Formats: sequence, structure tokens, C-alpha cells
Amino acid sequence: MAENYESNINEIKINFDEKSQKLIEEAFNIAQKGHLNQKRKSGEPYITHCIEVAKILKQLGMDARTIAAGLLHDIVEDTNFSIEEIKSKTDDEVAFLVEGVSYVTAKIFKRKGEKFSDSLRKMFLAMSKDIRVVIIKLADRLHNMRTIQFLDEEKQKKIAYETLNIYAPLSHRFGMQKIKSELEDISFKILYPEQYSQIENKIKEKKGQSENKIYFLQKKIKDELEKNKIACEIYGRIKHFYSIYQKMIRENKILDDIYDLFAIRIITDTVANCYASIGLIHNILKPIPGRFKDYIAMPKTNMYQSLHTTVLDDEGIPVEIQIRTHEMDKIAEDGIAAHWTYKEQKKFDSKLDSYFSWIKQVLELQKNLKEGEDFIKELRMDLFDEEIFVFTPKGEVKEFIKGATVLDFAYSIHSDLGDKCIGAKVNGKWVSFKYELQNGDIIEILKSANQHPTLDWLKIVKTAKAKNRIRHWLKTNNDAKQSIEKGRELLEERLKKFNLSLEKISDDLIEKILINYNFNKLDDLFLSIGFGEISEIKIANNLIRLLKERMDVAKEKIIEQKKYIRGDIIVDSNLSEIIYRFARCCNPVPGDSITGILTKKGISIHRKNCINVKRVSTPLIDVSWNEQVSNYYLSKLKIIAENKTNLINEIITLSNKNSVYIVSMNSSILNGNIKLEFSIKVKTQEDIQKLVDIIRNIEGIKEIKRII
Ligand code: MN
Repeated sequence: MAENYESNINEIKINFDEKSQKLIEEAFNIAQKGHLNQKRKSGEPYITHCIEVAKILKQLGMDARTIAAGLLHDIVEDTNFSIEEIKSKTDDEVAFLVEGVSYVTAKIFKRKGEKFSDSLRKMFLAMSKDIRVVIIKLADRLHNMRTIQFLDEEKQKKIAYETLNIYAPLSHRFGMQKIKSELEDISFKILYPEQYSQIENKIKEKKGQSENKIYFLQKKIKDELEKNKIACEIYGRIKHFYSIYQKMIRENKILDDIYDLFAIRIITDTVANCYASIGLIHNILKPIPGRFKDYIAMPKTNMYQSLHTTVLDDEGIPVEIQIRTHEMDKIAEDGIAAHWTYKEQKKFDSKLDSYFSWIKQVLELQKNLKEGEDFIKELRMDLFDEEIFVFTPKGEVKEFIKGATVLDFAYSIHSDLGDKCIGAKVNGKWVSFKYELQNGDIIEILKSANQHPTLDWLKIVKTAKAKNRIRHWLKTNNDAKQSIEKGRELLEERLKKFNLSLEKISDDLIEKILINYNFNKLDDLFLSIGFGEISEIKIANNLIRLLKERMDVAKEKIIEQKKYIRGDIIVDSNLSEIIYRFARCCNPVPGDSITGILTKKGISIHRKNCINVKRVSTPLIDVSWNEQVSNYYLSKLKIIAENKTNLINEIITLSNKNSVYIVSMNSSILNGNIKLEFSIKVKTQEDIQKLVDIIRNIEGIKEIKRII
């Protein structure tokens, strides 16, 4: 029996050096020993599953350690082997991966009654340590799905649902299109058997006829490209079933109304040839306006790159065409795994760097992800809150907002533990109580009977629970006189930073502050600061604001507040902590005059002439553009022109030449003219203006303007 597996293992070992081969063999031996008498539901020996998972990883081009961990991925869960044994027989890295995968399986997904999004967040936690954990997990799930027919129906449905909602979006996020399509189609068949077979039958029915048609189109395109000396490979392919089904739902169509069940893919050698090809294709086949997408200039967030267009064949049936380079194709199919192959070869180019930095960005759960709504829609889940997951020494998971500290952790367990906290052991190392919690930390609080909270602690903690408890302690344990003095000191210190003191501020302004904050006298304000109920920074800022208003009226500038540069915009330094976003209603572009509206979710940045700006009653916030911007911004152009061929091509070419990228396009016929609406991405308003001026001079253009 062992002979059977040997050929499999030999296949897996191909192209690895001797050391790596040994590692894979060793992993296989452990797996075989460990799973010796275990069988899968199919009746096959359990080891077959381990081998298949390893094969999938091999096909993805993963490194030997990942493959070894793939062979061992169920060993901790299902056998008597311990992680320590794995570590001593392989190495630390393999053991880490095995542990990571086991962790995801055992502790996260098997927890009952948990929301999918919660599970997913925890999955990201495990992944944040090493992304290969997820690649192994996906390979594991893929093989389990391939053999799912051996489970009972209820279990199949449950697993398919989880796959469709977690693993498929996850593989999409990592650009692993091939795995994603397979996971989706198997889940689709289980969850929607009727719809699946409906599509299957339709494809069967149309196959012969369509294949001829696609073949004819392929040949026509190939001839044209070759005539122009563009070397390429052209494939016709059936779209994957679940994507067809989604299209039916998205466009509210019945299957008979969906024509493009087949698609064409063109692989060529250079980016220049991709663009040249699309020009040539549009010359010989009529493109459908609005369907051209340039994902080369504007890669998708998972780094997918391609040109997309839809053309009409001779019978007027739409056919989708994708054009990309070989490298783009590998990335489109295998996503992050494709990069792993590159990484092994230690060939980092700038593009790969940006890919990895994107992953880092995801892993750090950065806040701008929360703002990218499309991004989230694409995933169909609201992930990536700024949450940190840490553990108690007993392995209990605790959730915190980013920036929370050891003190927050201590207070979350018990208020007394917080009050007495002097630091912690984090992952076995001593840290101060100011230490900021990191994903995956295991935290053991250290306390001392002599310890107690001070006012400064309020600046260290982030959670409401900790803040409330510290204030409570200060109020019950400090005497009022002392606290008044402390409060006065703090406020004066703060004002000093602005060359101010309470003495220099006129009484009526101080009176105004007392009224605004509901204090009878100044000492009450100091006491409140001293008890940590109100921050001296807030009071100082408000005083400064009042002063500034007064000075503005007097046209005297004494205090110039610092401006703060945040990404592409500049805001008042007092507002530097607040999240900002660009309003969708008016899509500001660098160069537009802008203003901010303070909302519950942060500063919403609008164009000054936006109708929503005129509507609000709250004071507007000063914002301006940074001199150098680094992002692209969305805008929209409307064009009315005589209906002539080649117009769209001309516009696309001119746009690309002028650093304006067309994201999507819509057209309609209006009184014999053609009306086009382009969604574009640009760096500055000048870029739009330049393009508008150029397009205006094209013959046949009757009107062009920026809509938003
Ligand atoms: Mn498994």
C-alpha cells in the first residue's frame, strides 16, 4: 500500500532541493504513522486526504515547509502527536504552520452559535502571523469539498454554506480565482441543486453551437493580432456556473436572457500588446459601450489585472473578452500563491512589493478599509473593524479596539486588577502597563498591593470601562483640594503650549466656557479636570477657538493654529485624530474647493458648492488639499456627440495619455446623438480640465462636462 503513496510523494518532491525533499518525506512519515488506522467517510485511508492537500499546495507552487505542514495539517487534531514532536522532527516553521491551521480548525470554526463574521475575524488573527496558514486551510477545504459527497445531506449543506460565505470570499480576497471558482461551484451545486442543473443543461444544449462560434471568433481575433505581429494565446472558456447564477440575480434575468455563457481570454507578452490588442479587436468587432474595463491601469484590490471588453459577434450576441499578460494570468488564477513562488526565488519587484504591502494593510486591519464600501460589498461581509484579539493565559479570547493597552486588558478582567496593575507578561515577556495590545498576544497581568490609579492613566486607556473605573477611583480616593490644584496645573500647562495662560484670557471668555460645560465656578472646572472627568485638552482647545473667533473678528491674527497634513488633505491640528472620508454626493477631486462637515462618523469632505453643504446647519470645518496628492479620485464626465464609430476608442486613448483612467462607461442614444457617461479616476481637477479641453476639440463632440 505504501507503494501507492510513494509515487504521489515523489511527484510532490519534484523540483525541491535535497533538504526540502527530506523534510517532505519526514512529514509524510509522521502523517502516515499518525493517521495509520484512520479512515475518511469515503472509506479511504485518512492519509489520502493529507496527500491531496499537499498536492494542491504543490500545484500552487508553495514552498516545501507549507507542503510539509499540509501533510501534517490534521495531525494535532486527530492523532496523539504533539506540536513539540512535530517541531523536533521537522522544524519550528512547519510546527508553527501546523499549529496555526489546527487552531483555525479546532478553536475557531467549531465554536457554536458564533457569527460567521466573528469567526472570520479570528481567522484573520491566525493569518496575521503567517499567511500560509490560510493557504493551507484553503487547500484543505478544497479537498474536503471535492469529496463532500460522502457526508450526509445536512452536513453537506452546512459545510457548503460556510464555504460559500467564508472560504470563497477569502480566496477571492487573496486573488485565488481558480480555487474560488471550484469552491463556489461545488457549494452552489449542493445549496441550489435545481438552479445548478438548469445552468448545466443550458450549457450542454448550447455547447456545440457555441464552441463553433467561439472557435470562429478566436480565429478571427488571432488572425488580426498576428497580422499586426502580436503573439498571443487565445482560449475559449465556459464561465463558471456560480458566476452565471450571480449574474442572473444581479441583473434580474432568467437564464434564457443570459447570452454570454462563454468567454474568450487572450494572453500576450507585454502590457503594450494588451492595449494594442484591444484597439485591434474593437476595430473588427463592435464593442458594447460601458463594458470596457481597464484593470491594468487600475488593478483590483486583490491585484487582479486585465483588460475587459464585451463585443458583439456576427449574430449580435455579446462575448466577453479578457486580455492580459502571462504574469497577470498567473496572478489572476493563483493570486497570493503566485507571489509565493516569486518570493521563493527572492525576486521582489516593485509590483510584488505593493502586493505584499496590501496584504500587510489588510492584516493590520487599517481603518481606511472600513471606508471603502465597494471593497466590503465585494466581500459581502463587514470585516476589518479595528479590532485586536488577545488571549488570557487560560486561552480565553478578548476583543479590544486598536490602541488599547495592558491597563484596558486588566480592567476588562476585574476593576480591582486594573487599579493594582503594574504591568504584564505578554507572551512571556515583561512589559509596562502602557504596552499597546497586539493581535495574538497572550497576557498575564502583574499587580501590586501598593499600586493605585492616577490621572495620567486616563491617557493610557482606550476603553470606556477602564476610564469610568479610573475616574471613580480618583473621585473616591483623592481629596478635592488636591484635585483642584492638579486640574489647574494641567490646564495651565496645556495653555502654555500656545503661549497662553488663564491670566491672559479675558473673564468673559472663561465665563463662556463655564456656561458651555455647566460649571458654576472655575474651581469646579479644575476639580472636574483633576478627577479626570473632562480633559484639559478639550477645555484648552475650546478656549483657543473662542479666542480665535474673537481675533478673527478683530482681524488680528495672534495665534496661528498648526495645520495638520493627513494623507491628501490638510486639517486643523485639533481635528487630527478624527477620521475623514470623501463624500460620494459630490466626489471632490484635488483642486476643487472643499469643506468639511462634522458627522457622527467623522469629517465628511464635500465640494464647497455641493448641495448638501448648503443644507447643513452645523459649522463647516476648514480643510484643504495637500500640495502633493498620492491617491486617485473618482469623477464623472458626460459627453454628447454625433454617433460615429471609433469615438469611444479615441476617448479611451486620449484619457490614458492624460493620466485619466476610465473605470466604467455607459452610453445611450439621445435624439440621434450618442450620450456617454464615463466614471473616471484622476489625480487632480486639472487633469479633468485638460482632458475635457482636448475631447471638446474632437470632431463631432457637441457637449462635454464634468457631472460630479
Ligand atoms: Mn483536513
